[in-house]
Amino acid sequence: MIHQTQVGIVGAGPAGLLLGHLLHLHGIDSVIVENRSRDYVIDRVRAGVLEQGTVDLLIAMGVGERLTRCGLRHNGLYVSFQRRRHRIDLAELTGGRAITVYGQNEVVRDLIDARTGTGRPLFFEAEDVSIDGTDSSPVIRFRHEGGEHEVRCDYIAGCDGFHGICRQSVPHGDLTIYERTYPFGWLGILAEAPPSCDELVYTHHERGFALFSMRSTSVTRLYLQVPPDEPIENWPDDAIWNEMRTRMTAADGWAPNEGRIIQKSVTPMRSFVAAPMRHGRMFLAGDAAHIVPPTGAKGLNLAASDVLVLARALRGFYDQGRTDWLDEYSDVCLRRTWRAQRFSWWMTSTLHRFPDDGPFDLQRQIADLDYLTGSRAAMTSLAEQYVGLPSEVSFESAGLSGG
Ligand SMILES: Cc1cc2nc3c(=O)[nH]c(=O)nc-3n(C[C@H](O)[C@H](O)[C@H](O)COP(=O)(O)OP(=O)(O)OC[C@H]3O[C@@H](n4cnc5c(N)ncnc54)[C@H](O)[C@@H]3O)c2cc1C
Repeated sequence: MIHQTQVGIVGAGPAGLLLGHLLHLHGIDSVIVENRSRDYVIDRVRAGVLEQGTVDLLIAMGVGERLTRCGLRHNGLYVSFQRRRHRIDLAELTGGRAITVYGQNEVVRDLIDARTGTGRPLFFEAEDVSIDGTDSSPVIRFRHEGGEHEVRCDYIAGCDGFHGICRQSVPHGDLTIYERTYPFGWLGILAEAPPSCDELVYTHHERGFALFSMRSTSVTRLYLQVPPDEPIENWPDDAIWNEMRTRMTAADGWAPNEGRIIQKSVTPMRSFVAAPMRHGRMFLAGDAAHIVPPTGAKGLNLAASDVLVLARALRGFYDQGRTDWLDEYSDVCLRRTWRAQRFSWWMTSTLHRFPDDGPFDLQRQIADLDYLTGSRAAMTSLAEQYVGLPSEVSFESAGLSGG
């Protein structure tokens, strides 16, 4: 079966679904091709922190109803070291901007519902997805329910994440790869326990980093720094709670509430950028082009900013025949990406223990955190980056109101 469309989108994660809906709002046709099932995509537990700009974008797109109702707005966060928690008032330091805790799976669920409502095509469980013709006449090929499909389009959006095929289809030598892997990973758990604090707690400890977070008023999300290839079998539930208590219990007695662990996994950490984010008539967006360590909570938010820039560029092309915004796409996104890389690297290296760190490094980290929590200038710097730097393109120029 042959499908003719304007934009062929590979991947129905946040980047692909957001792009599809933004294009729909501009009257631009698209086909989304995803190799996993709908349930798998929705159930995948990942990000949970939305920057102010991402929240504003989802609301401006008309997909923020559940987010507004169920998202947990946080006006601040805590940094804990030497067993003391220090609050950083994000909203006060940034003129009222904040973050919202709302699971990535909820964002994806809302976007799939919105896509389904538009009646535009979204194929789940596509097999043997491949792309071709990115220099001149792009095509996406795949098999679905036994039939062969071909999507012929003007442009391809490679929104297929870090392990996808789009970036890998670019000829060797046409991409520059910047990469850093970290000598640790995060063991993350979801626990049936009401959060014992209304805001996130980032903890520096001699035994390693720990993060207290939440997904709802009844589910706590916690992370521990562990070796990158740590088998999850090494961590029975009791051992996890012991280590959480050791690292996080504060001098005032604060500690996370405990409960039944309903999900646990270990994720390695890396920083990665592929440049440029365009190859001929294919644009890479989100994790397909860049990965940040999760400490700065930037991955999902970067994916949202990429596709806002891309949607504006495609709207400019289809409405006015302009190609300058398409030509600028990669540079505009990479500038934000590198700022997010720098911030995520700084958060990661300040809060984690590295295997070859000695006593000097421990004291240096403590001094860094002491300065951070004692200086309004330093807290403002963290706050404005954590809630999200201003968007590169205005909502108005992207055809949305508000923001
Ligand atoms: C454990 C963990 C915690 C995280 N925490 C945070 C956080 O707190 N804050 C934050 O901002 N970010 C966080 N992130 C990062 C965030 O989840 C990602 O940046 C985000 O998912 C990127 O969205 P995406 O759409 O670009 O990629 P993805 O979500 O990876 O989506 C890509 C989609 O493409 C599909 N696909 C892949 N290959 C193919 C193919 N060949 N054909 C068709 N489809 C394909 C995939 O199945 C997937 O659905 C975290 C990530 C992990 C793993």
